[in-house]
Amino acid sequence: MNLTQKILKKHLVEGELVKGHEIAIKIDQTLTQDSTGTMAYLELEALGVDKVKTELSVAYVDHNMLQEGFENADDHKYIQTVAAKHGIYFSRPGNGICHQVHLERFGKPGKTLLGSDSHTPTGGGIGMLAIGAGGLDVALAMAGEPYRLVMPEVINVRLTGKLKPWVSSKDIILELLRRLTVKGGVGKVFEYTGDGVATLSVPERATITNMGAELGATTSIFPSDFRTYEFLKAQKREDDFEALLPDDDAEYDGVIEINLDELEPMVALPHSPDNVIKVKDAGKLKVDQVAIGSCTNSSYMDMMKVAAILKGGLIAEGVSLVISPGSRQVLNMLAKNGALSDMISAGARILETACGPCIGMGQAPATNAISLRTFNRNFYGRCGTKSAKVYLVSPEVAAASALAGYLIDPRELGEEIKIEMPSEFLVNDNMIIKPPVNADEFDVVRGPNIKPFPINTPLADIEKAVLIKVGDDITTDHIMPSNAKLLPLRSNIPELSKHCFETIDPDFSKRALENGGGIIVGGNNYGQGSSREHAALAPLQLGVKAVIAKSFARIHKANLINSGILPLTFVSEDDYDKIDEGDVLKIEDAVNQVKSKGKIVVKNVTKGYEFEVDLDVSDRNREILIEGGLINYVRKKDKV
Ligand code: SF4
Repeated sequence: MNLTQKILKKHLVEGELVKGHEIAIKIDQTLTQDSTGTMAYLELEALGVDKVKTELSVAYVDHNMLQEGFENADDHKYIQTVAAKHGIYFSRPGNGICHQVHLERFGKPGKTLLGSDSHTPTGGGIGMLAIGAGGLDVALAMAGEPYRLVMPEVINVRLTGKLKPWVSSKDIILELLRRLTVKGGVGKVFEYTGDGVATLSVPERATITNMGAELGATTSIFPSDFRTYEFLKAQKREDDFEALLPDDDAEYDGVIEINLDELEPMVALPHSPDNVIKVKDAGKLKVDQVAIGSCTNSSYMDMMKVAAILKGGLIAEGVSLVISPGSRQVLNMLAKNGALSDMISAGARILETACGPCIGMGQAPATNAISLRTFNRNFYGRCGTKSAKVYLVSPEVAAASALAGYLIDPRELGEEIKIEMPSEFLVNDNMIIKPPVNADEFDVVRGPNIKPFPINTPLADIEKAVLIKVGDDITTDHIMPSNAKLLPLRSNIPELSKHCFETIDPDFSKRALENGGGIIVGGNNYGQGSSREHAALAPLQLGVKAVIAKSFARIHKANLINSGILPLTFVSEDDYDKIDEGDVLKIEDAVNQVKSKGKIVVKNVTKGYEFEVDLDVSDRNREILIEGGLINYVRKKDKV
């Protein structure tokens, strides 16, 4: 067996480990962040669960740190108190980015982790099977329900050789994105093996598994070996170590070879993480902003490399350099060893240990600016400035370019700077609040920004207008933008939904309300990007009953199902071309058509023809859709 199969087998509750079959697995750990967490906890409460049934659940606050009004503070207070009430650890604002802190303090090899954040697979760097999901799936996992997924293909990524000086693990995942594109990982787990694995530390591995999310992968995983032990020991957690390797004769559904010796510094050009070329081929590109951090590249070692490059230098005159260390542990260590001072002396602006510019919370670049970022996503408009162009690079490329003022290959800096992993990290968990023993005595504090979330009605026949027709690769950022203005509304869906699709079509929500709901038509890979279930809840609030697309991104499709919105795919893509916005589509006998498992017939009432769509979901998901979403289904089945 490969490592993925071994972990799945150990956690299997239902089904068989046969590719394409639905399986249900036990979840050991969950994590939430504040952007999706409020909703996940509202859902946990709606399920009527008193105490979480997982081995460990952690609520992080890292996304929305600006206290511009009461909304955000209300959300943090709600998360803190609901966590205390339900037996959940609470990582206070300032303690760091969820994935970085989880890796440092909680991740355990061989465990399953379900997180309401699409970069949860970061935990694969420590040998966990870590999967991103919607908040409701995470709420159910906390309630003790198994997590259901279609048994993915397991692809073996064989790393051979050793990275050359100035080439980093970010370049490995950028190379994979270049080869496979943002759709290349759908329905797959990437399992890393080969002699190159031993050359990478856990934080370097975590950079790779983190950005496996950009491939659309279910998750990515590294073995748990002496490097994992070394990391856990340095975190004073050696007792959490367990050696985990695939069998010598493990079988995989595919193999990809990457020779680390041959890799060079890479860059993802705007506006997609798979738009990757070698830095040396990118030409002379003047840089306006450099942002270093995010859950992809904010480890202690990343930061030490940056500090060493900046040491004694001064950032170029036209450049704004912002740095967000990934956790308080990292920031504290940089402060103690003087590296922080090297950064500050070079002109860097130090931001708090949080997602910050990665989620558009401040540091929007200037109009038409070029921004180099060590992050994982460069989708159009995500940085907060529509005309800005975001390039994704390694910390080495970012720091070297900040000094030069233009994009440079760090090999131009000469001799390599070597940073070894410390034998001891600075461990201090006093910003993590343990669940109290007397939780019953705690009250959950709900400010006016905490509004109940929408719950669908059971499936009925549909006759609705196409509210919007969009093209390929529509992201959850397009559907439900997440920026400094909107983040405070994440627990207030009625208000938030007014901004649905606003970057593409500012009148969308108004039209939806005027029409009493409707249907969305999409291209390929509809809903790619984040696990944000708001991208399903906002359309639900606006009365959207179905999305008909050429294909769906995995997590968004699951979120649509959970919300009771039909995720339908065109049988013939020609039918996509025939539909126009405003066309009225009709699905008659909807319940029986969904039950029948056959093709579903849709009538274009406006144009007077019929076409077929597929509903490619499991039997259970058909039942969920008929009940009008997962909450209704669980309540009805009295599952919890
Ligand atoms: Fe935060 Fe950005 Fe990572 Fe998402 S991708 S968890 S916003 S740092």
